[in-house]
Amino acid sequence: MKLFYDLHIHSCLSPCGSDEMTPNNIANMAYLKGLDIISITDHNTGKNNDVIRGLAQQLGILVVPGMEVQTKEEVHILCYFPDMEALNTFENELDAHRVQLPNRPERFGNQWVMDEEDSIIEEYPWALILSLNLSLDQLNALVDKFGGVIVPAHINKSSNSMLSNLGFIPEDLNLKFIEVFMNASVPQDILGHYGVLINSDAHSLGQISEPIQSLELTEKTTYALINHLKRRVKL
Ligand SMILES: [Zn+2]
Ligand SMILES: [Zn+2]
Repeated sequence: MKLFYDLHIHSCLSPCGSDEMTPNNIANMAYLKGLDIISITDHNTGKNNDVIRGLAQQLGILVVPGMEVQTKEEVHILCYFPDMEALNTFENELDAHRVQLPNRPERFGNQWVMDEEDSIIEEYPWALILSLNLSLDQLNALVDKFGGVIVPAHINKSSNSMLSNLGFIPEDLNLKFIEVFMNASVPQDILGHYGVLINSDAHSLGQISEPIQSLELTEKTTYALINHLKRRVKL
């Protein structure tokens, strides 16, 4: 079945995410846009996933548990998990690799964990703008341990991307999909080797994708999406 997706959305928990990116606003906007599958990929935490997953589900939208991790190499990696338990356990393990410097909301932005009524239940304490003390290889192994899959984010962006920071896509990560940033070109040889996701990387409501990008999945489930992202597309 053809499913319209946007698998890279930041909530008000990301310091750079707009304060308007509340659980209800995101779920309702995804509904208005006509999306079938979304993922909330806040920087280095997944603590707004559960609430948005519940709200979106009531509107018929599947929310795939996710996170955008910034590795030691300052590369952004989208991580998707088969269920909330996997995401939560993964996050607990990340705590050992966090630099525990307090966030400065007035400088970097708010980091709000919210409930289903868009009330703030926690101001996330540590600065999410910082890299984790975790290499790409370590991250890949950890995500794999919890049954998840990684997709390098916006690989053709001029910062925080695999191509900008490493200059290449490491073969040993055994990647099947990459995310491409629409407003920059991508080398053709790379496009031919990987499946491609095009997401919004929305930091404000209006940026959430229109129903343009779609995936062909066997069913509308998290498992079907994870399997799709893990399969070998070419070669
Ligand atoms: Zn990013
Ligand atoms: Zn992002």
